[in-house]
Amino acid sequence: EYLLAIESSCDETAAAVITRDMRILSNVVSSQTSLHEKFGGVVPEIASRAHLERILPVIDDALKQAGITLNQLTTVAVATEPGLVGSLLIGLTAAKTLALTLDIPLIAVNHIECHLFACQMQEDQPLFPAIGLVVSGGHTNLYHCSETLQFDLIGATIDDAAGEAFDKVAKILGLTYPGGPSIQNTAINGNPKAFPFPRTFLKDPELRFSFSGLKTAVLYAALGNPGAKKQPPALTEERIADLAASFQATVVDVLVAKCQQALTQYGYSTLCVGGGVAANALLRERLQEMTKQAGFRLRIAPPDLCTDNAAMAAIAWHHLDQGRIAALDLDVTPGLVR
Ligand code: ATP
Ligand code: MG
Ligand code: FE
Repeated sequence: EYLLAIESSCDETAAAVITRDMRILSNVVSSQTSLHEKFGGVVPEIASRAHLERILPVIDDALKQAGITLNQLTTVAVATEPGLVGSLLIGLTAAKTLALTLDIPLIAVNHIECHLFACQMQEDQPLFPAIGLVVSGGHTNLYHCSETLQFDLIGATIDDAAGEAFDKVAKILGLTYPGGPSIQNTAINGNPKAFPFPRTFLKDPELRFSFSGLKTAVLYAALGNPGAKKQPPALTEERIADLAASFQATVVDVLVAKCQQALTQYGYSTLCVGGGVAANALLRERLQEMTKQAGFRLRIAPPDLCTDNAAMAAIAWHHLDQGRIAALDLDVTPGLVR
């Protein structure tokens, strides 16, 4: 049995073929970074058009790399929420067309749940129940993940997502888009203690995040506060590296602390982490340290399954098992529903 999974929620056009036993036969990701970088963020209209141009070649590629033909597909899955409406619609239309013409089940998946499921894919044993953290471009969410793959939101950011903060801070520092990888690279040469940025909600009893104040703090430290008399020194390469390292360390400190807090509060021993920011080397290292020291089990999605991809939509096999097959009037749910 072969699942074709399609992902087009934001600015990656992706398709993958996954077997029933979770073997990833192909995982094709066509990133639109080069189209959006000059704007420092994703432009929805450009994203939709690019998805439309790329979706069929990407699906063809995924089938070719998997060594199968269209007729061998037994199920098709697509991310229908959350994301950009125009982007989601391209993937959905392709998936519906295949389901109808091949007469195979159509499964709708939630992109954020897929980010968490990415942790499970290379595991023999079930990971859940667990606490789950999704740190991505649009979300910083903590979940209670039940063994039946029911994901209940237990904490979130009240303003910017962690990935969004990486992207905006990179823009402030004049680094390339997307900000995550460029800040990580720049931070290598910087001092993470150079700037004591605010660790918002670090000691707060509630499971919540805030990264917008941090972003402003970096802006003022880098380019000056319009209200202040004294302006900061010139933005040298060394200063940029210190700012990047201090910013990254601040985000990581908060994320690690909140994961530990959630595990303790809910009495769970397993932590699953996914989403683009989970590719961050410092975050991975610090999560390893924390969980090792506190005696928790940690699973972080492999880096290529952290950023957007279609393979993680293999959670669709579980939906199929539970009979959750979508009708052809399936629609997208773009908004931040959870
Ligand atoms: P969402 O999943 O919330 O809908 P998205 O799909 O756009 O949003 P992802 O593709 O999961 O987000 O992640 C992209 C984000 O991950 C970007 O903000 C990017 O800067 C960040 N990111 C990628 N690599 C790294 C890294 N090494 N360190 C930190 N952040 C990173
Ligand atoms: Mg993206
Ligand atoms: Fe994502």
